[in-house]
Amino acid sequence: MGKVYVIGLGPGAEKEMTYQASTALEKSEVIIGYTVYTGLIRERFPDKKYLSTPMRQEVVRCEMAMDEAMKGRTVAMVCSGDAGIYGMAGLLYEMGQGYPEVELEVVPGITAANGGAAVLGAPLMHDFAVISLSDLLTPWEKIEKRIRGAAMADFVICLYNPSSRKRADYLKKACEYILEYQSPDTVCGYVRNIGREGEDAHILTLSELKDTEVDMFTTVYIGNSQTRNVDGKMVTPRGYRLEE
Ligand code: SAH
Repeated sequence: MGKVYVIGLGPGAEKEMTYQASTALEKSEVIIGYTVYTGLIRERFPDKKYLSTPMRQEVVRCEMAMDEAMKGRTVAMVCSGDAGIYGMAGLLYEMGQGYPEVELEVVPGITAANGGAAVLGAPLMHDFAVISLSDLLTPWEKIEKRIRGAAMADFVICLYNPSSRKRADYLKKACEYILEYQSPDTVCGYVRNIGREGEDAHILTLSELKDTEVDMFTTVYIGNSQTRNVDGKMVTPRGYRLEE
């Protein structure tokens, strides 16, 4: 029977792709994913069969992968970043129960959080929480509770899906919850198009972030009470002492 690799391509699907991801793609006959991501790898692997579905068709896309594998093919299901972080890996395992003959293998990738962190400096040096602001599959009340919990415990917070057309004010709301526990001067940052053309990073305060509009191709970082702006880089101290 066939096999499905669930592959994280890294944030830009080019320079941050791991060697393991590249090898799994080479071994695959069929590559499935959003056109945006398959478009980025098509040049490098021109001889593969490419299949894709529109956004939000995750279940259909996974069925497609399983059906191809049932035909005995080796399939690559590609996601941006890491496939196990707001990606397709979990859904494929859940669906895989209906396809016991199909072997699944997850190939890890650099997720947006650490891709963007490297651009900003070193914001994730201490404990951090990753929270998605998308309420398509998660009730907003739960998201709100998690943001408050993370802010209360002084985690560095990394926000995925910080905005969309229908959710223009979600980042503002998230900042308001965090402001209940953290200072308006808390050092924050955001990076748009990590690893892609037009990569763009900003460092600002929490009160400035509250009134900033970002899009869905952006990852947002809210520092903890120790995070500093060190010569234009966002740095969360680990706690090492610097001797004079
Ligand atoms: N599996 C992906 C996350 C998918 S959720 C990963 O591990 O990175 C989609 C969200 O991820 C986006 O809304 C954005 O917040 C973040 N993201 C993914 N790729 C990005 C990129 N290249 N630049 C900035 N943010 C990105």
